[in-house]
Amino acid sequence: MRDLSKHPELLSINHATVRMQCTLPQLVDLCARKGVRAIATWRDKIADHGIEASARLIRDAGLRVTGHCRAGLFAANTAEERKAILAENCRALDEAAAVGAESLCVIGGGLPKGSRDIAGAHEQVRDGLAAMLEHARRVGVKIGLEPLHPMYAADRACVNTMKHANDLCDALGPGIGILVDVYHVWWDPELPAEIARAGRAGRILGFHVCDWLVPMRDMLLDRGMMGDGVIDIPRIRGLVEGAGYRGSVEVEIFSAENWWKRDAGEVFDVCKQRYATVC
Ligand code: ZN
Repeated sequence: MRDLSKHPELLSINHATVRMQCTLPQLVDLCARKGVRAIATWRDKIADHGIEASARLIRDAGLRVTGHCRAGLFAANTAEERKAILAENCRALDEAAAVGAESLCVIGGGLPKGSRDIAGAHEQVRDGLAAMLEHARRVGVKIGLEPLHPMYAADRACVNTMKHANDLCDALGPGIGILVDVYHVWWDPELPAEIARAGRAGRILGFHVCDWLVPMRDMLLDRGMMGDGVIDIPRIRGLVEGAGYRGSVEVEIFSAENWWKRDAGEVFDVCKQRYATVC
């Protein structure tokens, strides 16, 4: 396993980690001051600054973009809705291409409004990904499918395990891979086997870290800093690297009551320190 304390260049900060404190230019500036060389971008933050200006800013700063967030969300009740979602997802792919992102982060979406049909929701995800893939291959951006914790199946993402994500990738062919986020997959007894399977297919496109706090006060916005919770992060990193992953370690923390309220420079310092010692 790689010694992260000797590889500061592998640290990527997802904009979500300081989303309340920083615009994109402020994030880029902070990276320069703190010696961080990679980021993951978000659609709204890119839109605020303008796509072309954002791409130029990132390029001039020499930053790698380990991912662009976020698209997918395929739940729809009508053909018209499906069409609108596909168009939006294609725009997200174009943005990812413009900022040079290594992949576009895609989550499945939950149940369509009023629905109890989880099997149907799974089918929509597969069909939606297939439609998106045509455009992804055209513009040369990989789709990074991120399975989310099953607590989000109803309202956010109904692809919840590495196995489900692997099955979809097998069915859909080239151009799609998987983002492994410890927060979403740490609990899964099949994790070692499914990470190995993803590695054999060469489809692990990203590795996201934060921690699972006990107790957790909010399903969405109470993620912990690495080392403050119960996830054995080195174990999972060992699995992905054992499966051949050589990419970045991306810190992605949604934390309304704690990290979003702190000075962004302080958040960066703690991220860097935990990255080097805990991950
Ligand atoms: Zn993630």
